[in-house]
Amino acid sequence: MVNNDWKRWQENKLREQRIGEWTSRFEKADGNSREWQNVYRAYLQSDVWKEKRRQVLDRANGKCEKCGVILLDPDVHHLTYDRVGGNERLDDLMVLCFPCHRKADKQRDRETDERRTASYYQARLHGFATRIYGDMWWYEKDHEEVEIEFIKFLYKKYCEEYGLEFDPHLDPESNIDFMEFWNQVLNGEG
Ligand SMILES: [Zn+2]
Repeated sequence: MVNNDWKRWQENKLREQRIGEWTSRFEKADGNSREWQNVYRAYLQSDVWKEKRRQVLDRANGKCEKCGVILLDPDVHHLTYDRVGGNERLDDLMVLCFPCHRKADKQRDRETDERRTASYYQARLHGFATRIYGDMWWYEKDHEEVEIEFIKFLYKKYCEEYGLEFDPHLDPESNIDFMEFWNQVLNGEG
């Protein structure tokens, strides 16, 4: 009995250690997509992943978990890579048939892009507000007002650059130049 507990403890320890190693490999590769892909390919061969994968396959019982079709060669798909490396929750993973897999991949990529864009925009907004109001702006200022100032500031710059007339009272929805500008901001080009 004591012996079994000891063995289990040791196994858990080893497992945690391996997860830690994978997680840090993924973190180091982050931002370099080729390197990240290499780590991911190696991870798919690892015991850590095989154990996760088996749990999900047991849950799916041979079927696509989206449309229910019976699968000969089931494939486990990551809905998110946030916890990749062995800390995946079971609901981060799903058994999917090929068409459902394709659809889910597209959706995940779209969501990742949106999040990346949003965080870049937030970082710029934060930099702008800190330059004008100092570090305490986050606590002291109305965030919506600061954001409107930030957008006006960017739009003014854009108008100058493209030789457009800047109208501080413009209605963004109806102004085609503004919409073009706004798309650039959201794509991180503005
Ligand atoms: Zn399916």
